[in-house]
Amino acid sequence: MPNSVQDMMPVSQPQIEIKEVHKAYGDLHVLKGINLEVMPSTVTVILGPSGSGKSTLLRMVNQLETITGGEIDVDGEMIGYKWVQKNSQKVMQTLSDKEIAKQRSHIGMVFQKFNLFPHMTVLENVMEAPIHVAGMKKAQAKKEALAYLDMVGLADHVNHYPSQLSGGQQQRVAIARAIAMHPDIMLFDEPTSALDPELVGEVLGVMRKLADDGMTMMVVTHEIGFAREVADQVVFMDGGVVVESGAADIIDHPQTERFQDFLKAVL
Ligand code: ADP
Ligand code: MG
Repeated sequence: MPNSVQDMMPVSQPQIEIKEVHKAYGDLHVLKGINLEVMPSTVTVILGPSGSGKSTLLRMVNQLETITGGEIDVDGEMIGYKWVQKNSQKVMQTLSDKEIAKQRSHIGMVFQKFNLFPHMTVLENVMEAPIHVAGMKKAQAKKEALAYLDMVGLADHVNHYPSQLSGGQQQRVAIARAIAMHPDIMLFDEPTSALDPELVGEVLGVMRKLADDGMTMMVVTHEIGFAREVADQVVFMDGGVVVESGAADIIDHPQTERFQDFLKAVL
């Protein structure tokens, strides 16, 4: 007899598995064997100084960069490549653009720069990809977009243009736009770094809500408070390697001098 609810739950598999991943740009070896697992419905915060390879790692998960070595699995499936049988031998083959697009469709990404379409209203920005990429009917796309914009606190701004919004509002539109594609993973690359300090909280609030709703998230940020309160896992990278990782309380007990120095600089 199982003696707790936990014993009855199926053992869950990582949703993202990064295995001994390397990345080189020519001679520049940027990622030097990254291993990382992200469990479903958890938040992983990645910390690290500029140039440590954080963006490169996120971009590889979303296949905006190719993998030089190692493997990344998302939802149990290797990304970017597949094994095929060729003359009684198994060989690795690059996926077609269509197959890559399908894998990427599970993942939403939000960048430091919001990159909204300036000539479209807030509502049109959020409806664009569901209609033109996912083939959703216009009425359905509108209904959903309005709900997502309400979720990010912008129900009153749906007919505004991006230039009429603050940076924090624009970033919240960018989040709604990503969510509108129904991703099951969200990647955030320094989503609040371009914002005035007083606008950071409203964006972090939306991210926290997403996390509470069970979204699997990887977040590169220097917001230590967010990491402490929301992260299930914190990863400190430096020089293309994971220097320390663990539960959020590693922030309060950094083991290495490199992590200690980094925290001193950002706190
Ligand atoms: P972080 O996000 O932690 O600041 P990045 O992943 O952006 O770090 O960059 C890591 C290193 O890789 C840096 O030295 C950067 O200059 C280099 N780099 C990033 N993108 C490219 C690229 N497309 N071509 C060449 N070098 C790059
Ligand atoms: Mg970066």
